[in-house]
Amino acid sequence: MTLLIKSIDDLARQKFDVLVPTMGALHAGHQSLIKLARQRSDRVLVSIFINPLQFENKDDLAKYPKTLEADLKLAEAAGATAVFVPSYEDIYPGEINRIEAGEIGDLYEGASRDGHFSGVLTVVKRLFDLTKPKIAIFCEKDFQQLFLIKQMVKELNIPIEIVAAPIIREIDGLAMSSRNVRLDIAGRKSALIISQALKENTIEDMHAVLATEPAFTLDYLEIIDEDTFLPASENSKNKRAIIAGWVNGVRLLDNRRMGAAL
Ligand code: AMP
Repeated sequence: MTLLIKSIDDLARQKFDVLVPTMGALHAGHQSLIKLARQRSDRVLVSIFINPLQFENKDDLAKYPKTLEADLKLAEAAGATAVFVPSYEDIYPGEINRIEAGEIGDLYEGASRDGHFSGVLTVVKRLFDLTKPKIAIFCEKDFQQLFLIKQMVKELNIPIEIVAAPIIREIDGLAMSSRNVRLDIAGRKSALIISQALKENTIEDMHAVLATEPAFTLDYLEIIDEDTFLPASENSKNKRAIIAGWVNGVRLLDNRRMGAAL
């Protein structure tokens, strides 16, 4: 049975090796992270906390899906040892010591979502402090988030191994996301344009594919250098196309390493 941990006092009595932080509304993508965690240890903690600090858009926060009962079942089925569902006060007991995300934190997702990455880093650091894992797993779906978490761990000398997991997709190619449930049938179809665009080999061709879908509003499309998160140059070792935009007001993002299969 997966243990439900509701307070930091209960948490303090347990020891976990791997942390999988989430905001709930779990899907097969989250389950893949938990399964990956189980390959490293049988003491796997999943956290579920919808972090208000990383939502610059109040409406997005209010509409974020909440499915705790189903989440517990999915976490258990994937092999989680325990699920930690802290309260706001557990995470932010007093004055909040925000962690700044630096220059890269102001680009792309950060440019559209003011303070988003500072909110993400602040909650991740707090979760690390509370749960003290040896390993934490994050998905490449949120590639800029993964980059900034790795950067924070390096800069603050945090003794935690950050493991990057691949993106899990629906059969038709749409990257799984907790926000996908907010798409209606037509929107769900329009959203496919993102993964279709990512199959192209040049940024021009990606733009051309995206332009064929009137229901998609582009926020950004760039091919970045994975080591710097700046636009890729000829010398870049690993390049990645990153896309974000909206369908019916639902924010969607996706990416693909250039040269790799989708
Ligand atoms: P979230 O609950 O959206 O904050 O995401 C929690 C973790 O699940 C993050 O590491 C995400 O990158 C990851 N995640 C989100 N979508 C997917 C996906 N399609 N496949 C695998 N992991 C995902």
